[in-house]
Order: sequence, then structure tokens, then C-alpha cells
Amino acid sequence: MSFSPAADGAGRYAPSPSGDLHLGNLRTALLAWLFARSSGRRFMMRIEDLDRARDAGNAESQLADLASIGLDWDGDLVWQTERGSAYEAAIEQLRERDLVYECTCTRRDILAAPTAPHAPPGAYPGTCRDRSDAERAAARATIHPRLPALRLRAPRELTRMEFQDRLLGTVCGDIDDFVLRRGDGTVAYNLAVVVDDAAMRVDQVVRGDDLASSTPRQILLHQLLGLLKPEYAHVPLVLGPTGARLAKRDGAVTLRQLQDQGANPEQVLTLLARSLNLAGPEETVSATQLLARFDADLLPKTPWTWNGIATASMHE
Ligand code: GLU
Repeated sequence: MSFSPAADGAGRYAPSPSGDLHLGNLRTALLAWLFARSSGRRFMMRIEDLDRARDAGNAESQLADLASIGLDWDGDLVWQTERGSAYEAAIEQLRERDLVYECTCTRRDILAAPTAPHAPPGAYPGTCRDRSDAERAAARATIHPRLPALRLRAPRELTRMEFQDRLLGTVCGDIDDFVLRRGDGTVAYNLAVVVDDAAMRVDQVVRGDDLASSTPRQILLHQLLGLLKPEYAHVPLVLGPTGARLAKRDGAVTLRQLQDQGANPEQVLTLLARSLNLAGPEETVSATQLLARFDADLLPKTPWTWNGIATASMHE
């Protein structure tokens, strides 16, 4: 598979401002930066703040951490809370082709509904999909003053889709009539990401492999909106000492916490680089040095387990 950038292509990192970044987030950001910069792409930063009331403080501190381990980015920051009209325009474009419908189902309704044969587990059962105008108006009235969610009318025959991932190989994921805009008016992650990546001319998406299962839905949206599909590299997560995904409860896991334990940002970057087979045990490296060494084919394909700074060897 070729990984040459389209003219003016970009990679990106897209943190949700929900507190300080932990080692897993920093490692994914480093990889996204290495993938982009080593292939001559621009590298962009997008703050995915749709889900929480905009928390600029958190975002600022995340960006400061990324800068202090040596990452840089191009152009202005993109804040999703400022992108509402672009999301609405995309929904309108789909709606004009009858690809959007209102859904009044609660979570409980969805669980209680009989599932369609061959539908993937957890797929939306299609309860609201084929309502007449009158049925839709009646359904709306039953949930008033709440508003209906908006769902994509996905092609009926398309319940699974494969894509090629730079690290995971062939990945297959489910497709259903997923939500485009929630009843509270919040635009759904899948729609926002697709619209933003296209607007930012992102042609290379590097992110945690917990998001690989969302990718087929995003590719379907790329197709329906006539947008270019980016290349994907879903990177292994970092695990904590218990074997579960690294979390804040796993002790000192943020840059600030590690600094409190005596590590400087360069040492933290070096720990990340070692976990990616990009640094030897006796050296301290900078992000720029890693660029020359980066080879996606040599990256570990399995998760990295973080057992705390006491067990990670550090050198001056
Ligand atoms: N905001 C998402 C996260 O922090 C990343 C979304 C993406 O990269 O597509 O996990």
C-alpha cells in the first residue's frame, strides 16, 4: 500500500479536552506526528470539544504537554465547537438525498426491539427508518420537548465493511444506521471527524486502535459525501499494570505527574521512543531525532504495558 501524501495532505492529532493527556495519548500523538512529518505532510491539531462544554483550560494544558515533548503543528487550531455550520451543511447534503431520518428511540427501545436477521450485534434495528410523515410527526409529539436524533439511512445490504490499515492490515467493521446528530443537538463523533478531516485536507489518520471499529462508518460517510478517503494507521494502546487500558487511576501517567517524580519531558519522550523501538536503552532522544529513524514497518504491533517510572530505566 502506498503512503505518499496527496498534494498538501496532512496528518492530525485530535484530543478530547478531558483532562491531562496520559502516556497512551502522548504516544499516539507522537506516532501521528512521526507518520505525518516523516512523509512530508502538514501536521494539524484539532480539539474535539463537542461532548463537553468547551474547556479551553484543559486543551491549553494538553497542547503545552505536546509541545514540551517536541511536537509542533501547522496552521490554526481547529475547535469542533466552532464548526457547527460545516456539520449542518453535511447533514443537509445527506438529507437532500433522503439519507437522513429522525429517530425517537431511547436506548431502552433499541435494546427491546427485535433485531433484523443478519444485523450485526448492537446494530440499530431500524424502528424509525421507514416512517411516513404522519407517523414521524406522531412520534415526535411523544417525545416533546425532546427532539429526535438524526440517523443515517445506510444501504440495507451494507452491514460490514473492510478497510486496509497500515498497522492492523485488513480490518472489518460493522455498519448500521448510526447517529449523525443526537437528540440534544450534539453532532456525533463519526460525522464531525469526517467533515473536519476533509476540511483540513487530512489524508492520513493515525489514532488509537480502539477507534478502528468506527472507521467503516466514517468511510461510508466519506463515500456518501463525495470526500477523499484518508489512509489509516490505528496504533496499539498502552496498557496499565493490571493489563487494562492505561487510565489515570494507574498512578503517575501524565507528563505533569511524571515530572513530579523527577522525569523531564525529554526523558518521557525517550521512554515513549523506546516503547516504539526507536531508541536504545542508553540514549536520550529528541522528537526531531526520531524523525530520521522512523519506519512504520518496524513499529511494535502489540500494546505496550506501562508499569510505572520505577521500573522504566531512565538515563540522564
Ligand atoms: N478525540 C478522539 C480521542 O481523543 C480521537 C478521534 C480521532 O482521532 O478520530 O480519542
